[in-house]
Amino acid sequence: MIALSDYAGIAPKGDLLLIHKLAEKLQGRKFLHINSTKSGGGVAEILQQMIPLLVDIGINAVWDVIEGDSDFFNMTKKVHNSMQGMRDPITEAAWEHHYEINMANADKLDLDADCVLIHDPQPVALIERRTDNCWMWRCHIDISRPQPDTWNKLRPYVEKYDMAVFSVSKFAQSIQPDKFLIPPSIDPLSEKNRNLEQEEIDEVLENYKIPKDKPILLQISRFDRFKDPIGVIQAYRLVKKYNDCRLILAGGAATDDPEGEMVLQEVMEYAANDPDIHILLLPPFSDKAVNALQRAADIIFQKSLKEGFGLTVTEAMWKEKPVIGGNVGGIPIQIVHGATGFLVNSVEGAAFRTKQFLNNPAMIKRMGERGREHVRMNFLITRQIRDYLSAWFFLENGRRNTIEL
Ligand code: UDP
Repeated sequence: MIALSDYAGIAPKGDLLLIHKLAEKLQGRKFLHINSTKSGGGVAEILQQMIPLLVDIGINAVWDVIEGDSDFFNMTKKVHNSMQGMRDPITEAAWEHHYEINMANADKLDLDADCVLIHDPQPVALIERRTDNCWMWRCHIDISRPQPDTWNKLRPYVEKYDMAVFSVSKFAQSIQPDKFLIPPSIDPLSEKNRNLEQEEIDEVLENYKIPKDKPILLQISRFDRFKDPIGVIQAYRLVKKYNDCRLILAGGAATDDPEGEMVLQEVMEYAANDPDIHILLLPPFSDKAVNALQRAADIIFQKSLKEGFGLTVTEAMWKEKPVIGGNVGGIPIQIVHGATGFLVNSVEGAAFRTKQFLNNPAMIKRMGERGREHVRMNFLITRQIRDYLSAWFFLENGRRNTIEL
């Protein structure tokens, strides 16, 4: 069992002190988190790590997952796509189904908590069953330019919350509830991020039959068009003309993402049996494999076209890897261009920066070290726990500008 004290010497001391103070005030209170999948994607990833830590500090933290049928998840994928700007019209009947599924879940769930934190649009309508407790809506996706039709449908729900939490300021919409900016985070002690012995890394490479003969480029992501796996292959092909290398595209499926299979097929066709492209379909909970692949890689891509935050960027930086990331969503708050990695806007840009890194090992080392420190100061799980507890405490204490602990 992991305890908050295990983070001493890793996380910034101020964060740990503040967590202790807030935990004293919120002892034994119930903090309910609800999302739509137990595994796959960043939200589940964070909750798996955060819930036990909240329990360790005396908060009665509970995590529930809503259930839905395939019509529901096809519809919520459209909501996800169109909130991220894609045109993907949703029928009135589908919205009614969304509401009904939410209400069916509300009948089954115990929503009686001191603070309820609803993650993303899938369970957003649960707010209709709120009582006089504190409700926060946590948006993890890139809603800098949502399709107005979809936002107009979600907005009335969001307006009923006490607070909306966004990862990055450009996602925050002009809405009634208080707004908080709380970027996501990684757990440095989890199986995905802990230090690994070289033998453990080699074992994973052997398992997936990946030779260590050439520099390894890696992108780990769900097979989703917004992650631009095809663009990554195009960049690799441009690099390959000058620098020999391998490319690994590794990803799994999320139970709330019905499009993964189709995108994976497209990617495999595009890779066209190139023996230096390794497409790995990872089963759920492949944390050690993800960790080992990230540590084995020389350069890590997250060439997203839209991105809520990009935990894969954080994970890579924590492992002192140079990251080339799309200049979108939460990636620019992690990659300080030219200092902790490079931001790119095109396939050509990604290829150019890859070659620059491959030809300059000293730059890889320098940026890797800075990246890890940037994550340590800003994107560890302790900082996120600090922020959630602060937001909850702020709501309960009359939203005063100054709160004494
Ligand atoms: N991930 C994983 N296995 C996979 C693909 C992704 O464990 O096959 C993890 C990845 O390491 C990261 C999270 O899922 O922790 C993805 O979060 P991110 O914010 O990058 O993207 P999202 O999937 O939430 O859009």
